[in-house]
Amino acid sequence: MTLLYEGKAKRIFSTEVEDVLRVEYKDEVTAGNGAKKDYIEGKGRLNNQITSHIFNYLKENGVKSHFIEQISETEQLVESVKIIPLEVVVRNIAAGSITKRLGFDKGHVFDEPLVEFFYKNDDLNDPLITDDHIKLLHLASETEIQELKASALAVNQQLLNLMTDMELRLVDFKIEFGLTKDGQILLADEISPDTCRIWDAHSDTNFDKDVYREDTGSIIEVYQTFLNKLEAHK
Ligand code: ADP
Ligand code: UDP
Repeated sequence: MTLLYEGKAKRIFSTEVEDVLRVEYKDEVTAGNGAKKDYIEGKGRLNNQITSHIFNYLKENGVKSHFIEQISETEQLVESVKIIPLEVVVRNIAAGSITKRLGFDKGHVFDEPLVEFFYKNDDLNDPLITDDHIKLLHLASETEIQELKASALAVNQQLLNLMTDMELRLVDFKIEFGLTKDGQILLADEISPDTCRIWDAHSDTNFDKDVYREDTGSIIEVYQTFLNKLEAHK
């Protein structure tokens, strides 16, 4: 089958079925828009399994996504969509870029979840953009922007329920949405420790890509521990 796209963490292939894509998760990890980059054996398997588990959980709880099924350790089938070039970030607790941009202390708990949009454009370094910028760039209409925000908050609520049950704190995460052939907005891409910040509720331990960004541990050990927790969760 044809390789349609190779990104930093995944390869996307066509399949013999129209509008169905095969996603292969790679053993590669990057940070800072590719500034830091490593091959880490086993990482693709972990993110494929974690993302599959989370998309299944969301489906059981009424949140639709592009996810169809996991077909191997490193591969899954998804519905093809036209990705809206926005990284939709939801934050419950301050960490990462918002601490530098607005001066919040790391760990500050927001009064309510915050939704931010970043323009998915590597050449521009994925800048934060406003609703008006989104309309100016014709990335989404006002109605679509409101739908993206509501959907992102719905995903957040479900993930918060899951993480709280697992005695974890969901700090923030990034999701992407795409348009189906009939113009519906659908949750797409991945939800994994590469795209979330997840802290232990009772200690300083974290289960996310910050261990790689900050060189504080083994990504394989940390992601495997998170997957074990997910699989143990009823
Ligand atoms: P990046 O492009 O950031 O390096 P990845 O390595 O994760 O990212 O590559 C996956 C690419 O596939 C991303 O650009 C993502 O937007 C895109 N994508 C994710 N889900 C779908 C889908 N259902 N249909 C089409 N493209 C998708
Ligand atoms: N994130 C992501 N891809 C990106 C940028 C951010 O998945 O290209 C995730 C990141 O892992 C975190 C959340 O989005 O869970 C918020 O990231 P932030 O804006 O704080 O950026 P960072 O400082 O992590 O680059």
